[in-house]
Amino acid sequence: MALMINENCVNCDACLPECPTEAITDGSDVDVSIYYIHSKYCTECVGYHDDPQCVIVCPVDCIIPDPDNVESQEELQAKYETLN
Ligand code: SF4
Ligand code: SF4
Repeated sequence: MALMINENCVNCDACLPECPTEAITDGSDVDVSIYYIHSKYCTECVGYHDDPQCVIVCPVDCIIPDPDNVESQEELQAKYETLN
């Protein structure tokens, strides 16, 4: 499934440069005050890395599975292939 950023985000910018699909923004494009993951571009890093890179670098553990965007490993792999 795609990941999402919850309200504990401290806008530190650590995650944004680590995302291989440029799914993360500072939120300004969607008019929110915390960082934001565009679910249609998030593969949970499937196809790029063994683990979600944003989760690894986030200092406050505020990046979590998005219950509204549940996807199987196969669907994430297919999303990766569509993006590439
Ligand atoms: Fe980007 Fe990977 Fe985080 Fe998804 S899990 S937002 S693809 S770094
Ligand atoms: Fe927010 Fe975590 Fe990203 Fe920092 S690394 S901007 S706290 S989601």
